[in-house]
Amino acid sequence: MSKLWQARFYRTANHPADLPKLEVPEVAFAGRSNAGKSTAINILCNQKSLAFASRTPGRTQHINFFSIGGAHVGQHRHDPVREDEIRALLVDLPGYGYAEVSGSAKLHWQELLSNYLRTRKQLVGLVLMVDSRRPFTALDVQMLEWFAGTGKPVHCILTKADKLNRNECANALRMARTYLESYVDEHGTPFPFTVQLFSAPKRIGIEEANDRILSLTGLADEAPADSGTSDSEDSK
Ligand code: GDP
Repeated sequence: MSKLWQARFYRTANHPADLPKLEVPEVAFAGRSNAGKSTAINILCNQKSLAFASRTPGRTQHINFFSIGGAHVGQHRHDPVREDEIRALLVDLPGYGYAEVSGSAKLHWQELLSNYLRTRKQLVGLVLMVDSRRPFTALDVQMLEWFAGTGKPVHCILTKADKLNRNECANALRMARTYLESYVDEHGTPFPFTVQLFSAPKRIGIEEANDRILSLTGLADEAPADSGTSDSEDSK
């Protein structure tokens, strides 16, 4: 049972002023629309529709926050989250790449996103979801560019690996690694960028992604949280 299973919808933000005031680590998830971001978040949090909350009308272009901590892990228990017990936030950034987004909406999105990525103190890492068949489109690169300057880690998840055969998977992983290694700071030191393959239907890479996210939030080193259930299964 992972600590990520405690995820609960916390709040939505459409302006910098709406961003949570909590001083807990935040890990943000970004990706082109349709890359598989919501599916991956739901699997990692062991919930059917958590990230689809970000799809509800009016929230699609917002930043949506999910809390970890302060809630029971049981999927069907919906006790109120105890705010002072929240240990981390997962941050679902709006999917990008919709051709039909208008000029002014795009500008608003760019400002909200780039400001959040560049200046958010609590943000400890970015999980970038890219379709393993179409890695690093111009907008993915834009996200990396906005974030790279912070020097914080990026974990890249190559989604839909089930659509590739074994050789293609190996190639996609190798090429993504090479690409990410091309990002270096002014001293030539590579940024802390990592990459993995992922497939929802084949359940490839779930543990690896879980471990990376928990390690980014700092929760990996903590004692298992009280799951609120009677069993004593270990938390990751
Ligand atoms: P989002 O827009 O990035 O949140 O993408 P979704 O999670 O909604 O996924 C977009 C589409 O891709 C949906 O039809 C999903 O069922 C499908 N999908 C997501 N992950 C995978 C995967 O690992 N493998 C395959 N084959 N399809 C996936």
